[in-house]
Amino acid sequence: MAKYIFVTGGVTSSLGKGIIAASVAKLLQARGFSVTIQKFDPYINVDPGTLNPYEHGECYVTDDGAETDLDLGHYERFLNIPTSQANNVTTGRIYQTVINKEREGAYLGKTVQIIPHITDEIKRRMLLIANTGDYDIVITEIGGTVGDIESLPYIESIRQLRWELGSQNCLTIHLTLVPYLSAARELKTKPTQHSVKELLSAGIQPDILVCRAEHPLTQSIRKKLSLFCNLAPTAVIQALDAASIYDVPMLMLKEKLDLTVISMLNLTTKVTPDLSKWKSFLEFMKNPVNEIKIGLVGKYIELQDAYKSILEAFVHAGVANKCKVNVVNISSEEITGKNVNKKLKELNGILVAPGFGERGIEGKIQAIKYSRENNLPFFGICLGMQCAVVEFARNVLKLKDAASTEMIEETEHPVIDLMEEQKGINKKGGTMRLGAYPCNLQKGSKIAKIYGKEDIYERHRHRYEFNNEYLEHFKDAGLSTAGINPESNLVETIEIFDHKWFVAVQFHPEYKSTVENPHPLFVDFVSTCLNG
Ligand code: GLN
Repeated sequence: MAKYIFVTGGVTSSLGKGIIAASVAKLLQARGFSVTIQKFDPYINVDPGTLNPYEHGECYVTDDGAETDLDLGHYERFLNIPTSQANNVTTGRIYQTVINKEREGAYLGKTVQIIPHITDEIKRRMLLIANTGDYDIVITEIGGTVGDIESLPYIESIRQLRWELGSQNCLTIHLTLVPYLSAARELKTKPTQHSVKELLSAGIQPDILVCRAEHPLTQSIRKKLSLFCNLAPTAVIQALDAASIYDVPMLMLKEKLDLTVISMLNLTTKVTPDLSKWKSFLEFMKNPVNEIKIGLVGKYIELQDAYKSILEAFVHAGVANKCKVNVVNISSEEITGKNVNKKLKELNGILVAPGFGERGIEGKIQAIKYSRENNLPFFGICLGMQCAVVEFARNVLKLKDAASTEMIEETEHPVIDLMEEQKGINKKGGTMRLGAYPCNLQKGSKIAKIYGKEDIYERHRHRYEFNNEYLEHFKDAGLSTAGINPESNLVETIEIFDHKWFVAVQFHPEYKSTVENPHPLFVDFVSTCLNG
């Protein structure tokens, strides 16, 4: 039978529950357990696919085409195992299931209520992954903060599950903040005490407290928390601010969080965790031999979380090249034909980001034109590839008003157009081309060399595509379409051979880059930016 760890958050949001959950999982994995993580989000959207990145950061896409919370990206990057739709559930999805069942008459005339019907559906989904039998330990992160009205059904479900599964099989880790008051020069435990009270009033005694703090927890603070929050002193774990998210597993190891979890769940383990790959990653990350500057050209650059997976893929690729990648945020709205030279000339390469809608499009096109003409390494992802196609059409093929029909519906040269299967779809939620699709890379192409193979699977999230009516026209002018979907013939990658590095892809390679498996496209791009 699987063991369950629930991770809740208190005092404030943004304490990094996802990173703590992923770190605990990493340590348990390193001790030989098979572990997975799932996240339950208390909002009413059925999934985050329709959310603006300014609301909730990047939308992360899994192999099976689920549009999910960005924490799933951390889970995959830390654990190096894929997640799926089952790993991310929202209140919207829970209610949708229950309401659909009610309409089918499945509740046989009963009044449908939060308890037991909503909580039953939450519990069913909490157990779903464990029921596959693939995992020794399932970690469930509850989004939001304890005390929020929205979180209550989840907390209640955890309370019920502890009874149903036995408390020796369940564990609750509560992540809180222990603020430092500089005037008093003291760490304050009161907010944590209140947060634990809040959990207790819902029937849950946390087993472990992980305390985010800017200063180390003294013995007396640990004792105080142990006394007032009713848990063992060894169960009070300090989580100091870390220079990098990848340091957090090591900080938790130092605090013996893994051993505390293992003993509380009555598990047995190998003596030492095997973290050799992780440690060598950290070693290279902290001691880079070189440094480069890469421009990230996008329209959501004010919010770092909007491009989370791209930024992390650069960290992984940097380590693989023993090089620190300094990502310079460049707002595509601010790039014009006049200032593009000034904005890009100090950079070793640029990545033009994915996105939706018209805002900032012309700036992206200017940046790509500059890279193409000045042999500056260029990497385009999704909308970034579409902009590269438009730029080439306008400036090389001389199709002056070439555009994507996403931006100009009536354009005379729709070089990027709505995919056939998308025509007639009006609903926005979950209707894009989503998830992993196969792609054949042309033998001898630059991209096939980078991957070291010709058959790849990559994840997608888009409605528009390269318009194959223009295919020959582009090829004749030197833009090669090296990657093709074998079933639909959709163009998935483009490249210009006669250039230092000019590759753009319709899929999202950033979703598949992990600490242990940095993505080959990012690794090769960084290598070229570094070595010329
Ligand atoms: N907006 C474009 C499309 O839907 C690109 C999407 C993306 O960059 N993820 O095709």
